[in-house]
Amino acid sequence: MEIILSLDEISKSYGPIKALKEVSMQIPRGSVFGILGPNGSGKTTLMSIVLDVLKANSGTYSWFGKGNHPTERKKIGSLLETPNFYHYLSAVDNLNITSAISGRGNPEDINRVLEVVKLTERKNSRFSAYSLGMKQRLAIAAALLGNPQVLLLDEPTNGLDPVGIMEIRDLIKSLAQKGITIIIASHLLDEVEKICTHVAILKKGNLLTSGHVDEVLANEDIVELAAADMEQLKKCIAEMGGYSSIKEEHQRLQVHYPLGTANMEAINSHCFRNGITLQLLFNKKKSLESKFFELTND
Ligand code: ADP
Ligand code: MG
Repeated sequence: MEIILSLDEISKSYGPIKALKEVSMQIPRGSVFGILGPNGSGKTTLMSIVLDVLKANSGTYSWFGKGNHPTERKKIGSLLETPNFYHYLSAVDNLNITSAISGRGNPEDINRVLEVVKLTERKNSRFSAYSLGMKQRLAIAAALLGNPQVLLLDEPTNGLDPVGIMEIRDLIKSLAQKGITIIIASHLLDEVEKICTHVAILKKGNLLTSGHVDEVLANEDIVELAAADMEQLKKCIAEMGGYSSIKEEHQRLQVHYPLGTANMEAINSHCFRNGITLQLLFNKKKSLESKFFELTND
């Protein structure tokens, strides 16, 4: 596994505020890496540091195993703040200007990136006529000029409606399929859970955990059940075995099984054979949300 970006004990303070505290992480090539944390947890600060926009107080980072050289930075595209596009100009004209200023891309490349973000048909429309989702896709197109190997996106779906959010998600997935490594900062669990292969969770500048989404997620199935007679149900489920724990909460039985072993049909028919009619039965895979909540709660 090739590491595309590694951070080694990065710390950053703004006066008395410690925005990052000795944060270390490794981002593998080809991953969609989510940096997840509530507002103020240090995500934008972290991205600004690895993009050389901000200086860390201590610690180091390395791109492509080669430190932090300008030649390496050419392989990195980013969208940290909404770019200032000219409202009265078209997508093509705006990208031409961006390309000229940044020295990335060429006219051919502009057509390519517009195709990637599905704006080809609207490429000659004025920016001001674009929907928010289209504006955001154009911003991503600008970040893709010069064909970077890595793309950093800071809260890419902020402010978008559900359709816009879905379009950005699909776009991120298609970029990942093209082999681009994507690093996304987000405070939305749902977003990270839906598109990321890896996640790092930040809280008040501390890294709580990082790794493959499946590893960070709890490694168990959680089945919730309810019946009129909870005592009888509990006894019946206990008899069946295979679980790692059983607890009763709010008139529901929560049964934990090792990941992938909860058999809903077997549970249902076992209960039925024992004269129990279930009022509720569902497999609640421990979501990133509950994990995130668990981790970020004091
Ligand atoms: P996030 O992107 O996760 O919301 P930030 O990296 O923006 O978090 O901020 C982390 C912490 O640093 C917050 O407490 C924030 O208020 C503080 N902070 C960020 N930028 C500045 C700044 N320029 N000056 C002072 N404090 C800042
Ligand atoms: Mg931020």
